[in-house]
Formats: sequence, C-alpha cells, structure tokens
Amino acid sequence: MTLESFVNLGKKRIEESGIQCADPMLHMKQILGASISLDSIQFYSRWQEPLTENEFQLANKLLERRLKGEPFQYLVGYEWFWHSQFEVGPGVLIPRKETEHLVEELLKCRDLRTIQVAELGAGSGNIGISVLLERPDWQWHGFEINPESIPYLGKNVGQLLPLDAKYFIHEGNFFELAKDWAPYDVVVSNPPYIAASELKKLSQEVQCEPKLALIGGEAGTEIFNHLAVNSFQLLRPQGLFLSEIGSDQEIAAKEILMKSGFQSVEVLRDYAGLPRIVKGIK
Ligand code: GLN
Repeated sequence: MTLESFVNLGKKRIEESGIQCADPMLHMKQILGASISLDSIQFYSRWQEPLTENEFQLANKLLERRLKGEPFQYLVGYEWFWHSQFEVGPGVLIPRKETEHLVEELLKCRDLRTIQVAELGAGSGNIGISVLLERPDWQWHGFEINPESIPYLGKNVGQLLPLDAKYFIHEGNFFELAKDWAPYDVVVSNPPYIAASELKKLSQEVQCEPKLALIGGEAGTEIFNHLAVNSFQLLRPQGLFLSEIGSDQEIAAKEILMKSGFQSVEVLRDYAGLPRIVKGIK
C-alpha cells in the first residue's frame, strides 16, 4: 500500500469513527509521519511509493489506537508546553495551552531572592520545569500522588533541566507531605477541577487521561478548597497562592480563597476570555 492510499484510507476511517478531528487528512498525515519518523520532505518524496511491511504495521498500530479515542499526544509520546517538549503517555495529564498562564504569572515575579515553590499535582513537570529554566535559582517542590505519572516527571526533569537544578520530586499526597518543607513563597497548582458527574460528557480523549488529575470531587471544587485552606498554613506571610480553575468556577474560587484568609483575591482570564486563574496573597 502506498503512503497516499494509507492516508486516504485512514482519513475515511477517522471520519467514520466519530472521534473529534478538525482536519482528518492532516491528522492522518501526522499519524503516519510520527509512526514511521519521516520529515515532510521525505514524506512527500515517497508519497506514491509503497510502505514496507514493517512501516505499515507501525502506522496501522497507531491508527488503531487513535481510532479507539486515544489522544494523539499519547501516540507520539510528547506535547509542547511553553518552550519545551514534554514526554507524555498513558498515565499522565497532557499539558494544556491555557496552563501556560500559570507560568506567565509566576515569571512576573522578579524577586531576587531564592523563591521556594510547592506544586500540587506536578504531572509531567510542565509548570515547574518551564519556570526553573527561566528562574534557575528557584527551588521547586513538585508533589505527585499518581504513581503512573512519576516516570514521566522523572524523565522530563532529567532531560530538560540542568543537573544542578533544584526540582525536588515528591511522590505522594501533597496534604501529608508538603508541610515538611514549609514555609513556601508560592503555592501553585493546576488541580483536578472537573465535577465527577461531568466526566462522561467529556471527549473520549480526555477520558483516556488519569482520573486523579481530572476529577476534583463531586462538585469539582473539593480539592481546590482543601488546597486553599492548606496553602494558607503552608505559605509565608505575603506568600502567593496561584491556581488554575474551571471556567465556571470564578465565584466559588474567589469565595473559597477569601474564606481561607487570602487577600487581594483576583481572577485572571485566558486568551479565550474565560476565567482561568485565581490568585491571592496571604
Ligand atoms: N501540572 C500538570 C499540568 O498542569 C498536572 C496537573 C494535574 O495533575 N492536575 O499539566
């Protein structure tokens, strides 16, 4: 089978499968290109040539996984976030564009001291690694409860940060472990904030991602609430609390922060104009 016919056949199967895809033709080319590691010049120079048996098997395997709804990033094994490429796969949350706003906010902090940060739910390490690459003197404590995420976190820290970077990986429950390194200057998180009942309404792709990283409790705000209350204890006076929130959680999040004792509580919007980040000062 030629590359062209494989792409055309796959395109048709994607269209029939019901998976969400804006451009099935382009998507099919990406799947084929990733599975047999061809750059775009090689790709088009071979367009009408046959795939070898081995190439066909590799490409077909990825296509079948994609047709079952697995996210494209899990098939290729990476996702870009801020300025780096993070290794991802089944078991770890795929970094999202809107989470880059947390990095932007953190980098606004130009304090010359060594800033000590705690993060609930480090996932692939995307937030901490991105910040430490630009603020090499900071210390980052990344807490991650999901054992399946830890190998990705370890690899990304090892591959993307210099050897002397101060990124400390803590496997376990933030609420039990974080006090051991307190007080912090900053507590940051992209916490699980989806309501349990909403999960089945989300795309097949999202449902392939770890529930621990997605579900914030029955109402969606339970973990956020717990985090806000705990962070107030963990922060130094004047310390910064920064968290991503669901776009429908603006009022609840503000209330929770104020009840927890935070001041200067503020919600920031993402590029789509939706409430996305809440911040407060101890
Ligand atoms: N920090 C990671 C991210 O933003 C993981 C967050 C999580 O597990 N909820 O992608």
